[in-house]
Amino acid sequence: MNDTVFALSTPVGGAITIMRISGPDSRALLQMFFTGRIEHRRVSYGRIVDDKGETVDHCTAVFFSAPYSYTGEDMAEIFTHGSYAVAKRLTEMLAASGLAVQAEPGEFTKRAYLNGKMDLAQAEAVMDLISSTAERQRRAAQLQLEGRLSAMIGGIYDRVKASCALLSAAMDDDTDEIEYDEHAASAETALIKADIDRMIEGGMRAKVLREGARIAIIGSPNVGKSSLLNALICRERSIVTNIPGTTRDTVEESADIDGIPVVFIDTAGIHETSDTVEKLGIERSEREKENADMVLLLIDGSRSISEEDCAIIKGLDTQQNRKILVLITKSDLPQLVEADAEAFCGLDAMRISSLTGEGMTELKKRIAAAIAPDERDPALTNTRHIALLEQAAKRLGAASEMLKNGETDIAFLEMRAAMDDIAAVTGREDPSEDLINSVFAGFCVGK
Ligand code: GDP
Repeated sequence: MNDTVFALSTPVGGAITIMRISGPDSRALLQMFFTGRIEHRRVSYGRIVDDKGETVDHCTAVFFSAPYSYTGEDMAEIFTHGSYAVAKRLTEMLAASGLAVQAEPGEFTKRAYLNGKMDLAQAEAVMDLISSTAERQRRAAQLQLEGRLSAMIGGIYDRVKASCALLSAAMDDDTDEIEYDEHAASAETALIKADIDRMIEGGMRAKVLREGARIAIIGSPNVGKSSLLNALICRERSIVTNIPGTTRDTVEESADIDGIPVVFIDTAGIHETSDTVEKLGIERSEREKENADMVLLLIDGSRSISEEDCAIIKGLDTQQNRKILVLITKSDLPQLVEADAEAFCGLDAMRISSLTGEGMTELKKRIAAAIAPDERDPALTNTRHIALLEQAAKRLGAASEMLKNGETDIAFLEMRAAMDDIAAVTGREDPSEDLINSVFAGFCVGK
């Protein structure tokens, strides 16, 4: 790990290419190839020269003395012209120097983590920030990078640790001098679990920032699903016809709704059929309906509610933690369906017309309100973090029950295991090498 490493941090082909170097020989390497001044955090102009004294490029370079750098080590960044030939030459010179080797993907950030510059969750936020495309994704990554999530996780870890310490002291006490209140301990453990559950719940909403919200458009044939999808993405994509059952499989389209990446799924008309191809499509749309973060249920306003519509409404599991919005379509035609909420089992309902665009602005607003995460708290967007915290919550729930029953020994083991799960989110308390490697495996070279 003490090797000096180098990597291009920008794709070659732009106006400027950045070569990064990190490790104890960074200064020596700069002295070897760069003619400018080398001073901590000072940008200087100079030339890159090879061992024969030939100029390879004119460039600027900056040097950072350890520990005041991104990685916490001595570091240098060289800004050359964005030429493939220059980049290739400089790479060859660095490799041939014998002082440095090519960096692995994510190695600079990994070193920053190992040198205590940031924790694992912050390192992951670097990657999220780089890959963010929508504004809210950027904001969530920024909060995580600033350590707000880490602070929250740290608070929870400390509470479990304190509970463990109390329990451990009581278990070690042969004289019975320490009074341990199992019921109070059980209640505190249940409280910590509830706090973690709340974070996970918020995280489920925030996950849409990373993966995009999945919104299923469902309804019987010909209610206007494909037309709505086209209106939402402003493009002709699904086949719109007046023959029922033409959208045989599901169609997916991405859009940006109020800074949130959204995937709309136009499901095949859900209805009884004997056609096998259509049947497959319908089965898939049933699945989509289950997996979606939000469901738009379409009812054709220009005809009376059919038995089929009723069956679809009854088939919706309103208990699930996701939003359902009823859209009464074709509002430009004479309306036979009342936009009466009670008719739709207490579900929110509104009228739209994909033809005239009536209600579309309001619809987008309602979609954003339904899926937008709460931005007051740092968001739990990472599936690795969510999985670890789910496991910790499960263990704490079990421990709380065990404490209530006086099973302190096994409760202690569960709580210790929960501590390890929580610690693995930020990588505090000696994380395993496997964990570290798996986190950085997804990084790009030069980061
Ligand atoms: P799907 O089977 O649910 O996907 O329905 P389509 O989107 O294919 O639409 C079925 C028929 O309804 C087509 O003839 C559309 O032109 C028509 N339609 C869809 N939306 C509207 C609307 O807002 N107003 C009117 N007047 N017709 C619509």
